[in-house]
Amino acid sequence: MTDQDLPLCKGDVLTIIGVTKDPNWYKAKNTVGREGTIPANYVQKREGVKSGEKLSLMPWFHGKITREQAERLLCPPETGLFLVRESTNYPGDYTLCVSSEGKVEHYRIIYHNGKLTIDEEVYFENLMQLVEHYTKDADGLCTRLIKPELMEGTVAAQDLFSKSGWALNLKELKLIQTIGKGEFGDVMVGDYRGTKVAVKCIKHDATAQAFIAEASVMTQLRHTNLVQLLGVIVEEKGSLFIVTEYMAKGSLVDYLRSRGRSVIGGDCLIKFTMDVCEAMAYLEANNFVHRDLAARNVLVSEDNIAKVSDFGLTKKASSTQDTAKLPIKWTSPEALREKKFSTKSDVWSYGILLWEIYSFGRVPYPRIPLKDVVPRVEKGYKMDAPDGCPAAVYDIMKQCWTLEPAMRPSFEALKENLQLILDKELYL
Ligand code: AMP
Repeated sequence: MTDQDLPLCKGDVLTIIGVTKDPNWYKAKNTVGREGTIPANYVQKREGVKSGEKLSLMPWFHGKITREQAERLLCPPETGLFLVRESTNYPGDYTLCVSSEGKVEHYRIIYHNGKLTIDEEVYFENLMQLVEHYTKDADGLCTRLIKPELMEGTVAAQDLFSKSGWALNLKELKLIQTIGKGEFGDVMVGDYRGTKVAVKCIKHDATAQAFIAEASVMTQLRHTNLVQLLGVIVEEKGSLFIVTEYMAKGSLVDYLRSRGRSVIGGDCLIKFTMDVCEAMAYLEANNFVHRDLAARNVLVSEDNIAKVSDFGLTKKASSTQDTAKLPIKWTSPEALREKKFSTKSDVWSYGILLWEIYSFGRVPYPRIPLKDVVPRVEKGYKMDAPDGCPAAVYDIMKQCWTLEPAMRPSFEALKENLQLILDKELYL
């Protein structure tokens, strides 16, 4: 209404920069830097998605429970209350249980040639699509599905992302072109309300579930050197879109390999080293362990800022993890041996990442067969300094590769050390 007001639209993300004398108004800044006052009751605080309960895309799926257990769960009766369980009589099939007019009906969901069906007329790719279909229309069932009976200990991921302000609107997202292939789906460049964004598109329901965890970790983190989550779209049919800031220069390892020594100077290498260290010190301070730190998981922005990404394995410090999928050459001996992941195991990986940076993207432990890496490392073997690597930087690598985790430096200490190297120009 006045010059001081900041115009805003539904879905905008604003930063509150101050209060005013009137508690009903905030001073705020929008994404293009314009400042002004906004009415406090028009905005919702965006919060980290933290839940003691499991975030699920299929909270109505109860796994292997019996017919009787299902009937107890759907009591007291409420028409349209439903759940899905694994079929006890037909292993591999599922059963849709729906309450209707005081009775529970059980429909067999047949798994046939990779598709699911109840009536052998309409077929679905997955349970989410099936539930979505019968939520819209009874289509021969006793009632349409109205309310999910939630599995104990789970919450609907969709609901939690909307409540915490992280759900984006699919209609406002334009997918433009594929820029990368992740393990489980394409990474695309897109446009969200005029901002260039990167979008991880995960199609399959089972995989989407795993990425929900990655997205919820990302809602809790905010740092210039971490790839920023912008929001999440959970489609009813089971696709998941994770929208992050767009990193124009791609992964650090490709950046180093494609440009090489002749283009990238020592000042640039030490800057990347510092950028990653800043991000890791932030994770350290907040008790997050990354577990998959490597140059392939660091991205470079248009203005050459390195940012850590791929929080797929990132967890609060206390949790454990299965070791089968770990990148051997980046993972510390104690993490490989005893699953002991900690900030200190991230420090080990950081040392390997430093080696990657100063060798312009070479694969670590060159000429050593993969099976020999762990036994040699356990005996105290350390890689040589890459050609032209400043002594002060190689010294840091070696500190990171101390076999005893407790003796490795913290990221906070590494930051100070790197600052000294910068100040004394020991990086050239
Ligand atoms: P990821 O599955 O996260 O390892 O991503 C696969 C590839 O997609 C990366 O190596 C990058 O080349 C690209 N990519 C991922 N995220 C982004 C992003 N935020 N901005 C630009 N490119 C990205």
